[in-house]
Amino acid sequence: MVEEKSMKSLAEYEVLAAQAHGHLCAGQILGLRMALYGMRLLGLEDPVGRDRKRLITFVEIDRCVTDAIPVVTGCRLGKRALKFRDFGKVAATFCDLQEARAVRVSARESARARARELHPEIEGSNRQQMAAYREMPEQDLFDIAWVRVNLGPEELPGYRAPRPACAQCGEAISFRREVVRGDVTLCRSCAGESYYSPA
Ligand SMILES: [Zn+2]
Ligand SMILES: [Zn+2]
Repeated sequence: MVEEKSMKSLAEYEVLAAQAHGHLCAGQILGLRMALYGMRLLGLEDPVGRDRKRLITFVEIDRCVTDAIPVVTGCRLGKRALKFRDFGKVAATFCDLQEARAVRVSARESARARARELHPEIEGSNRQQMAAYREMPEQDLFDIAWVRVNLGPEELPGYRAPRPACAQCGEAISFRREVVRGDVTLCRSCAGESYYSPA
C-alpha cells in the first residue's frame, strides 16, 4: 500500500491559509514557511495526523504570520496545542513532546530588504515580499535555535484537575492558573493581573 503524502505543497497551504486568515499576504507565506521549516527540523511528517499529539507550538506575535502556523501544524488555541506569548516578535517555537526537544524559528529582519533586492520590478512591499518569501532559502528567511521549553502537565492537552473557585469573584479556574496567597485562592485577575476594570 502506498502511504499517502501528508505534507502539502506551499501552494496548497496558501489556499488554506487564505481561507483561514481572510486574505493571502506576505505574513501568510512567511508563517507557512516558518511552520514547514519547524516541522522539517523536528522531523515531523504528519503534524495534523499521526504526529498531532506530539506537537505544541508557541507563537510570539498577534499578527498575520501567526494565523498561518496552525494551517501547517494543526496546533490550535482551543486544543491547548497553540500557546501565545505576547513578545511582539515574529517567531515560533515548535516542541516535539515525544523526543523532548524544541526549535525556535525567528524571522530575520534582513528578509524584507532581501525581498526588495530580489523583486525591484514588483510594486508594493507586500507583493514584493510574497514573491520573495516563496522562493528565498530558509536560512535567508529565518534564524533557528534549539531550545528547552519547560512544559508542566498542566500545559498539555488532556490535563485534568480540580477547578477551584476564586475567593473573590467566585469564578472557576482551570489548569492550575490559580494564585494561592496564604490560605486564600485567587484567580489571576483578582490577584492583580487583570486587563479590565469595572465600567
Ligand atoms: Zn494578512
Ligand atoms: Zn477572581
